[in-house]
Amino acid sequence: MAPARTTDVDFTQFYNIVNGEKRSSKEFLHGFNPSTQQDLWDVPIASPEDIEETIQAAKTAFKSWSKTAMDERSVLLKKYAEAIKPYLGDLGDLVMKEIGKPVRFAHHEAQYAYSELIKSANLRLEDETVQGEDREYVLRYQPLGVVAAICPWNYPLGQATMKFLPGLMAGNTVIVKPSPFSPYSALKLVEIAQGILPPGVLSVLNGNDSLGPLLTTHPGIAKISFAGSVATGKKIAESAAKTLKRVTLELGGNDATIVCKDVDIEKAAPQVILGAFFNTGQVCAGTKRIYIHEDIYPQFLEAIAKAARSFKVGASDAEGVTIGPVQNEMQYNKVKSIFDDAKTHGYKTIGNGAVIDKKGFFFEPTIVDQPPANSRIVTEEQFGPIVPSMPWSTEEEVIELANDSEMGLGASVWSNDLEQATRIAKQLDVGSVHINSMEKVSIKIPFGGHKESGIGVEGGPGAIKTYCDLQVLHYYKAGDAQVH
Ligand code: NAD
Repeated sequence: MAPARTTDVDFTQFYNIVNGEKRSSKEFLHGFNPSTQQDLWDVPIASPEDIEETIQAAKTAFKSWSKTAMDERSVLLKKYAEAIKPYLGDLGDLVMKEIGKPVRFAHHEAQYAYSELIKSANLRLEDETVQGEDREYVLRYQPLGVVAAICPWNYPLGQATMKFLPGLMAGNTVIVKPSPFSPYSALKLVEIAQGILPPGVLSVLNGNDSLGPLLTTHPGIAKISFAGSVATGKKIAESAAKTLKRVTLELGGNDATIVCKDVDIEKAAPQVILGAFFNTGQVCAGTKRIYIHEDIYPQFLEAIAKAARSFKVGASDAEGVTIGPVQNEMQYNKVKSIFDDAKTHGYKTIGNGAVIDKKGFFFEPTIVDQPPANSRIVTEEQFGPIVPSMPWSTEEEVIELANDSEMGLGASVWSNDLEQATRIAKQLDVGSVHINSMEKVSIKIPFGGHKESGIGVEGGPGAIKTYCDLQVLHYYKAGDAQVH
């Protein structure tokens, strides 16, 4: 039997969740639908008292949640998964409206949140025993306390669940802080958990610019799990250092895609360009630079341009749309300024940039043909539907070009020769390399960045460990301990 919807989940009213309770505020902010630029619903801005109460409630809840058996936590997360099931359509609609994600992808993100709940409920963390010469060691993992999960706007459900689920399974209590650009689906997701998880175990706070810094300096927070820009990541590392909070920083990328000369152009090209423009180019591990072997450069460029032209651009609720609007005005202006910079410098562009005559932050997918290595479009993370394409001749050269970035999140290599692809992949200074595929982040496998793309990893079977401190017990037989 399908689980029942309850009448008290209202998708037009939004609350912070403080100590298990819905809390409004005297102050509000609201998002915009990027497809229409229309105002979305008011969301309360957490007051300093709300923030303090939430942290104290999370600290109190930690005392019993950390001692709750993992199997019991798992049962509750599965119940939570069942509770969100009747609302997946509503949650998907919120994602569609708050970030402009085309409806089919927005609903997929809601479905993903559900399946992550189930998968995470199945994660376990066992003690490990190591036999030493004179003693036995037991390695055990202790939860940290209160975790603040600070999220970006591009995957509001995906990013929140990727953080709070392993955090909770480890025995921590978690406070989710969504981006003020896209708070709606995360607020609702956490609201639905109340009544299933004990009060204070999972909370959510929406705020303005002061909320993040407040959480990262608060002595009651033990860990910051953050995804967002490199600039904010550095600020977080700095403030977390004051109380030596644990941090996981999942930051920006300038990922290179390397296309070798032996690829099947017709097959590879549409996937390569989708890797750059999926989610309107707003994917941390999306392709940000395309390097094509010189022998096939003109043909491959034409094939990616043709595929790009075939993507329907439009409002997130319109049928068949692949590329929705850019999520917010600030990001739109950044993408536009990178396009204008390319035009000012006389670089050849395929696609007209921000010319789409509609209300909303629409931007025609654009390829910049052979800009110089020091141009903005090559050196900056554009995070929008514009990508540079450059030819390469030797492996040594393309590896150097790909690694010529302060960031090192991911890359992809396309070749029919797996030896060549592996040889190139192993020399790239990045956290993940996809071979013959656009990059696809999976919570089943660890994901993290090299260099300025971050510190630590998320996901994978060891995800829970990243929310724990290690403790080693040294066992001697009573009376056997020696003084060395
Ligand atoms: P952002 O850094 O502007 O904001 C991210 C979050 O941090 C928001 O919730 C924001 O309110 C909060 N914040 C801002 N200033 C803060 C401060 N001083 N202290 C604490 N919190 C603060 O990033 P964004 O624009 O929301 O997201 C886009 C960026 O995120 C891109 O660079 C993208 O590559 C990156 N990203 C990385 C990953 C990853 O897993 N590596 C995933 C998604 C997005």
